[in-house]
Amino acid sequence: MYKLREAEQIDHFFRKVADNPINSLARDTHSYLPVYNYTEPWIEQTEIVTMNTTAEAGMPHTRPPNLICMPLYFPESRKKETLAHEFVHIHQRRHTDKWNRFFQKEGWSRVDPYELPDKWVSQCRMNPDTIDQPFWQWKDRYVPLPLFERQDKPQLRQVIVSWYDMERGIRQPEAPRSFLERYGSAPQPEHPRELYAVTLAPLIQSSVDINEYLSR
Ligand SMILES: [Zn+2]
Repeated sequence: MYKLREAEQIDHFFRKVADNPINSLARDTHSYLPVYNYTEPWIEQTEIVTMNTTAEAGMPHTRPPNLICMPLYFPESRKKETLAHEFVHIHQRRHTDKWNRFFQKEGWSRVDPYELPDKWVSQCRMNPDTIDQPFWQWKDRYVPLPLFERQDKPQLRQVIVSWYDMERGIRQPEAPRSFLERYGSAPQPEHPRELYAVTLAPLIQSSVDINEYLSR
């Protein structure tokens, strides 16, 4: 579908996957294909693309500039909150600077991949919703890393977030105490975009609600 081809020309997601052996292996039995040749228009100029069930292991995600990719047969009971989560990601795409200022205010700062050990960077699961700015540190120190559980048989859904301590130069399985005090045991601690997509999904109806939250 040309809209997915256009998305690839913007984010180069699958080119980046192709350049990374473990991410390629994790997707080698998947096919990234839309089920229909049309998209379903949704709120605020977004479009829903129905993907086959193996695309990104059936995990909903977004692609630029406005595509929400949902797997075929997604459970109706989880649809509303999941679409709201994906809408937050579209808002993050549309207002990246605003979101980055918000993350900074909340205690996050960006990390260049070159500041991290290559062996950990290369083993992280690539996520279409964070691929342009994959690494952030909490409190100028702790970087969450979504690492594949098994390097020999990587599965997209089998990832454990561990934490790279920039100060001590070590990786630890436990989230830092200050993070737990702020976010509790968050279901998706891998990236601030995911943390806030999870937080906001049950609270928002539109971009008005998101903007309000960001300017609290
Ligand atoms: Zn997400």
